[in-house]
Amino acid sequence: MAQIPGAWRRTARGAGLLGPGDVPAPTIFAEMTALATRTGAINLGQGFPDEDGPAAVLDAARAAIAAGENQYAPGRGVAALLDAVAAHERRFYGLDVDAQREVLVTAGATEALAATLLALIDSPADEVVVFEPYYDAYAAVVALSGARLVPVPLRYPAFQPDLDELAHAVTDRTRVILVNDPHNPTGAVFSDDVRREIVRLADRHDAVIVTDEVYEHLVFDGPHVPLTTIEGAADRTLRISSAGKTFSTTGWKIGWVTGLAPLVDAVLAVKQFLTYTSGTPLQHAIAVGLTLPDAFYADIADRLRAKRDLLADGLRAAGFGVSQPAGTYFTVADAAPVLGGAADADEFCRALPARAGVVGIPLTAFVSTARRAEYAHLVRFAACKRTEVIAEASARLRLLG
Ligand code: PMP
Ligand code: GLN
Repeated sequence: MAQIPGAWRRTARGAGLLGPGDVPAPTIFAEMTALATRTGAINLGQGFPDEDGPAAVLDAARAAIAAGENQYAPGRGVAALLDAVAAHERRFYGLDVDAQREVLVTAGATEALAATLLALIDSPADEVVVFEPYYDAYAAVVALSGARLVPVPLRYPAFQPDLDELAHAVTDRTRVILVNDPHNPTGAVFSDDVRREIVRLADRHDAVIVTDEVYEHLVFDGPHVPLTTIEGAADRTLRISSAGKTFSTTGWKIGWVTGLAPLVDAVLAVKQFLTYTSGTPLQHAIAVGLTLPDAFYADIADRLRAKRDLLADGLRAAGFGVSQPAGTYFTVADAAPVLGGAADADEFCRALPARAGVVGIPLTAFVSTARRAEYAHLVRFAACKRTEVIAEASARLRLLG
């Protein structure tokens, strides 16, 4: 094989994104879905639904393609979606968002996160406070930006941060406090005290708050409270969301970021050189989705709540401990009682397809090396699957006993 020059891979390797032999390490989601496919196990690993979302949205995408909406969208997004996002913010949260200047459509929440962090980080001395366990892209993008990741732990089973630990983590070096609420992988919804403390600390240390609210419509004891609605937050908050979870269109990658115009402009400055724009007909379809009646939104949360309960019953019957999630696709289970011969949840998850025909994700995939031991008994299972699939997975897990 040809010798690969070192210079171009320095950043990827420095960011810890290359595995042995300079092959990109697959994400835990790709790895676990491949394991499920290979073994024929039920995939409660990667968070994607196994049935389609609303027909009106799917039909709107086909209609937009047929109508010739197939060329570049404007840089900020198609007008119909910008308007629909602004109307959504008003309808659900009473937020007054200027569709032209305060909304930016992105290639999923993932691009929004990447563009936002790359836009806000100035120097290697900057710090980004995150809540650990954290969604895998956070650590990767922070590393690519050159900043330092400062994790604040969320502990099983309640997964709320300790306010003293949070206050200790935020300093004048903090450039961004990155908040995922509702939280993947734990399913936690932050308390009002936590939200207020985040805003107080951001104000005191002049940090920008970046929120990832892709599960905003999947809360079980709602309503969802965007952090930007807390007093003092709006001037310093960029709020990120995505259509993937709400409309069961995770493959479409339509996301957006909202916030004050100068902050959104900074994100646009980076975003336009990542993808420029993407998904024109899909943007039109999501605009239709965002105008669906309130009953649609209530229904998706109700149905997922029922699946969460079914999954929790199945996990308990199989001998797991369960942390009841207040939102998201996910439930964290304590696998300590069912580890069998496995040393930890990581080994347990790799053996689970053979032992029970089910795939889950070890929580250690979402934590820094320093804190692996604290999470070594925990597994994330996804409830965003058909009822009969969850029932079958539960029956299989009972074989573990
Ligand atoms: N943030 C969180 C917390 C997620 O769970 C996901 C996965 N859907 C994303 C961001 C990425 O969202 P998207 O698929 O819209 O890029
Ligand atoms: N958000 C999904 C999850 O947490 C996975 C997204 C991905 O595969 N990148 O399972």
